[in-house]
Amino acid sequence: MAALDRLIFIHPSRRPDISNLDALPFPAWDLIDVEKYKKIWREHHGYYSMNMVTTRGCPYHCNWCAKPIWGQRYNSRSAENVAAEMKWLKENFAPDHIWFADDIFGLKPNWVEKFAELLRENNSAIPFKCLKRADLVTEKTALALAKASCKTVWLGAESGSQKILDAMDKGDKVEDIYRAAELLHKNGIEVGFFLQFGYPGEGWDDVQKTLKMVRECAPDDIGISVSYPLPGTKFFERVKMELGEKQNWVDSDDLAMLYHGPFPQGILSHPACTCPSRIPVTPCVPKK
Ligand code: SF4
Repeated sequence: MAALDRLIFIHPSRRPDISNLDALPFPAWDLIDVEKYKKIWREHHGYYSMNMVTTRGCPYHCNWCAKPIWGQRYNSRSAENVAAEMKWLKENFAPDHIWFADDIFGLKPNWVEKFAELLRENNSAIPFKCLKRADLVTEKTALALAKASCKTVWLGAESGSQKILDAMDKGDKVEDIYRAAELLHKNGIEVGFFLQFGYPGEGWDDVQKTLKMVRECAPDDIGISVSYPLPGTKFFERVKMELGEKQNWVDSDDLAMLYHGPFPQGILSHPACTCPSRIPVTPCVPKK
């Protein structure tokens, strides 16, 4: 809140968290021209997807991940409430696909299993995409995701080098990534890997480990970025003295190195480059 005429700024105190997310109404899709939205999706992608959100926040500590809104808090809607929203969307808008926009889908024990069961009971499943940590994919969860009609799981794999995962405070083991990809594929679910290159301390050996992991796990899609120092993160504090003129996405692109990383700028983005250290993969945008 601000009184601009007198140049007095009053910062409102932080609102208390809403821990009972089931108390919130479903999103106001009636404010959207859904027919137009549907038409644009179908023209550009051949199918039509809507978004849902089941949680707020993430309790993990990956040290490059900015969490300015929820911090370390994590609240989740009940499986019953989310299944009811999916049924409502199916009956009213019939989307071909849902993108769950949570940082981590189904973190609470047995949440996914319960969700799958409710969708089956109500015949309300819609194919969906979600994001998950590799260490949270178990035999039971992968099976439940498949039963719930999950089409794609994107994993924050980041690196195939344990040294780099540890430096990031990722809290995952490389074996977790291999196991998660295998379990998801075994259950007929596509796998996407988010990968980062250029984290401080990453050497050519580490890059090779990541490439090996990609070849061996054979994800269906990958999304690549350079490690990007976001203000408010431990990673930003570590490299802020090395930042140059370009300090954010307004004056740089998303594959620009903003600090003195271990590899030269352009390593990821110049297909014509013949430098022996060029990474032999091209950046891509996550698809459906
Ligand atoms: S990267 Fe994902 S798991 Fe890690 S802190 Fe951020 S949201 Fe949580």
